[in-house]
Amino acid sequence: MAKLHLITYGCQMNEYDSERVAGLLREHAYELTADESEADVILLNTCAIREKAEEKVFSKLGELRRLKTARPDVVVGVMGCMAVLQNATVFRRAPQVDLVFGSAAIARVPELVARAREGRRHLLETAEAPLVKITARPPGVRPLKAFVTVMEGCEKHCTFCVVPRTRGRERSHPPAAILAEVRGLVADGCREVTLLGQTVNAYGRDLTPPTDLAELLARVSEVPGLARIRFTTSNPYNLTPRLVRAMADVPKVCEYFHLPLQSGSNAVLARMNRGYTRERYLELVAALRDAVPAMAFSTDLIVGFPGETEDDFAATLEMVERVGYDNVFSFRYSRRPGTPAASMPDQVPDAVKAERHARLLAVVQRVTAARSARLAGRTVEVLIDGASRKDPGALSGRTRCNRVVNVDGGGRAGVGDVVDVQVTEVLPHSLRGVLVPTPEEAVCSSR
Ligand code: SF4
Repeated sequence: MAKLHLITYGCQMNEYDSERVAGLLREHAYELTADESEADVILLNTCAIREKAEEKVFSKLGELRRLKTARPDVVVGVMGCMAVLQNATVFRRAPQVDLVFGSAAIARVPELVARAREGRRHLLETAEAPLVKITARPPGVRPLKAFVTVMEGCEKHCTFCVVPRTRGRERSHPPAAILAEVRGLVADGCREVTLLGQTVNAYGRDLTPPTDLAELLARVSEVPGLARIRFTTSNPYNLTPRLVRAMADVPKVCEYFHLPLQSGSNAVLARMNRGYTRERYLELVAALRDAVPAMAFSTDLIVGFPGETEDDFAATLEMVERVGYDNVFSFRYSRRPGTPAASMPDQVPDAVKAERHARLLAVVQRVTAARSARLAGRTVEVLIDGASRKDPGALSGRTRCNRVVNVDGGGRAGVGDVVDVQVTEVLPHSLRGVLVPTPEEAVCSSR
């Protein structure tokens, strides 16, 4: 068998795409290797969300130049968002690259790799292509938890974002294809799926007949053997009352909502072209908590967007306190060439961004710690997914609100089980707990 080495940068969508590439090439007699020096094909799945991510790729390509000089028959390819945005730059700065392709061409990866191995140089495939549901996975992968792409692309045009250019317009996979993929995963032992889309709550409006995420959640939930459903990433603009109701009505959907806010200032939100205000966002949070009181929220925040004043930043801090997030992913604004925000006036100096980011992290730490503290003494449902990293004798899993819990299984629980755990200790990044006896065990021990 020929050998494939895959290097993945960036988001969950990229992780998922890499799995598909490995699965498709497996069907053409390629096996994965962790050792790039023995690979016949090396593919870098890239991210373009920040300049740093791109520089990492060029630095890796620089390292691979030596390997390519020693073994010219090795195919080096660049795929993903940077491949679409920077294809000319990739070939100019790294002429040793043989192949550049976007996510729309993933279904054709065996053919593209074959052409590159036949000696075709500088192959470029970055145009939009028909949407294909690829369910191939690498061999031996029988995941307990899996990502399932339900739609591709985004049409929101936030002024800081390159995704609409790299992943194209919104296109949803038909429910039947998604259900078939979920059933196949569950047959292989999967207990939890995360439905993926750049704007996952816009799912289905492009289909004939149109459908929506609420309907899809209900149908996925009917798959026997599946324990949990998550989904990401939602846009507040597309959050409908039907989806709020589904969060309460579909029992397998976890009480965890990733709802990117980006900024707490209405002026900044307008410049970002996000399509909602802080007031609307708070209404949505209130509606979700009304429907599901235990709902945990996570969010994305950008610090130092062009024109962000001290008052704008204070509004973001205030939103973190008001919403009471369980988790926050925060980033300093980074100019992306070709986006409207890159040429906006009043770019915020790096030192100011760094100082604000440090202040934000301090508030986030306090708020998330307070949310964790509320779990002390409570009984939580945990899906056991492996051994504890720090104590191999203990088991580890996640709550429905996505917290890591380490628990002594005492031989009574194993990987894949959904168990009740009483939280005995709240640590900065995890919880500790003890198994709650099942009713049968309680009866036994009382005799
Ligand atoms: S909704 Fe998300 S993916 Fe779409 S443009 Fe905005 S930030 Fe980018």
